[in-house]
Amino acid sequence: MQQIQLLIHGEPCDAASGRTFERRNPLDGKVATRAPAATPADAVRAVEAAQKAFPAWAALGPGARRALLLKAATALEAKSAAFAATMAAETGSSAIWAGFNVHVAAGMLQEAASLTTQVGGELIPSDVPGSLAMAVRQPAGVVLGMAPWNAPVILGVRAVATPLACGNTVVLKGSELSPATHGLIIEALQEAGLPAGVVNFITNAPEDAGAVVEAMVAHPAVRRVNFTGSTRVGRIIANLCARHLKPAVLELGGKAPLLVLEDADLDAAVQGAAFGAFANSGQICMSTERIIVDQAIADDFVARLTAKAKSLPLGDPRQGPVVLGSVVDMSTVKRCNALIDDALAKGATLLCGGKADSTLMPATLLDHVTPDMLIYQEESFGPVKPIVRVEGVDAAVACANDNAFGLSAAVFSRDIAKAWNVARRIESGICHINAPTVHDEPQMPFGGVKDSGYGHFGGRAGIESFTDLRWVTLQTTERHYPF
Ligand code: NAD
Repeated sequence: MQQIQLLIHGEPCDAASGRTFERRNPLDGKVATRAPAATPADAVRAVEAAQKAFPAWAALGPGARRALLLKAATALEAKSAAFAATMAAETGSSAIWAGFNVHVAAGMLQEAASLTTQVGGELIPSDVPGSLAMAVRQPAGVVLGMAPWNAPVILGVRAVATPLACGNTVVLKGSELSPATHGLIIEALQEAGLPAGVVNFITNAPEDAGAVVEAMVAHPAVRRVNFTGSTRVGRIIANLCARHLKPAVLELGGKAPLLVLEDADLDAAVQGAAFGAFANSGQICMSTERIIVDQAIADDFVARLTAKAKSLPLGDPRQGPVVLGSVVDMSTVKRCNALIDDALAKGATLLCGGKADSTLMPATLLDHVTPDMLIYQEESFGPVKPIVRVEGVDAAVACANDNAFGLSAAVFSRDIAKAWNVARRIESGICHINAPTVHDEPQMPFGGVKDSGYGHFGGRAGIESFTDLRWVTLQTTERHYPF
């Protein structure tokens, strides 16, 4: 069992009330972590610590910020084993997933380090004689980042890395389901030597989330908010931010379609579909959530994908390497079981896997899924994936877009021009041709459309999200006035 603490102005501390909450392992129910149940007052203290640290951090040269972020990347990577153990304990995820998380997250800190010299501006021709006019990017202030449990290292680091690179100070609100995993990120940042107050860390009991988040969003020092999580909570955050006029980046749910066109390389499509559907047991925002296959090659594709899905090892990640570890909790099992029941009752065919009675859920494929089935529309966020058969390219695109979400997508075809034109018609923030829906790189503009949210992390797009763009002029000659 791990016992963790908040971090406020560089000081590890408990909640002022002394209250804690527990995170239990999804497989054996043992307490994995005990974490402070911060109150709104604790959260405000964290914001105020970040506010106090902001002027000096914002004034620091890019080289100094870059050096610290690079040290943080190294410190994070050095914790790979601790991340794997803590993720297995808190969320039941596999060692492969933990390793991928640490690798991408370290890359995000390195990319953020390189962004420190890219927070620039431009000269804009002015019609006023002698006026030197500039658009200048400046740090915004305190950034509140809120990260979920499912890709905890990547998404926890993403919530703070670019904001820090731009000269903002941050408060990270950890997930109730992975507080110690998020705590390890904070440890790595502290080990790198970030000045006190630049990074602050809050954990809260699930029942306090609304009040704790509201206290921080409402605080005048908080100038940007980012939230990665469900669309349901994303709407609450969007409303809150609207009320307080705080710009937000919202990275929400997904229902990524993967299109297998008539002329696809079926082996490549099977590999891409299996990886996208079942990595981290389907608990990724970019997970392949709807496999759309042209009727002409559907039987062949389905047979190959089913064989691949049946071969994926499932088990307790603490006992050896697996592809599918435990899902995060029994509510995922119940949700997925209900989706399977509903689909089968309405005429779908079960190809492999099926309902589970523990958090060890097998890779499950449902064929002949139709729009009246719940799994056609709803995010399973588990290893249960629907296959929809369609005739022709237009039907495939229509099926891909027949959805409220719009985060990631994939198209498989040997005709690259055709695939490109299909990709352009799909309503999603991200689309990969002949590659899986699950793909993340720190320098890419990551973000969704429709119910998947708005705004971007990553590269230059991240700088735009976490800086203020100011218009500054310098009058270099005598100014003419009309009176
Ligand atoms: P969630 O939305 O249920 O929880 C996220 C956080 O919201 C929690 O930590 C909680 O503290 C907070 N919260 C809950 N109620 C609140 C309230 N009333 N006010 C303010 N905050 C509140 O999400 P989750 O289950 O942790 O994550 C899974 C979801 O995240 C999936 O839908 C997935 O698709 C999405 N996701 C999206 C991305 C992306 O980049 N787009 C990445 C990963 C996960």
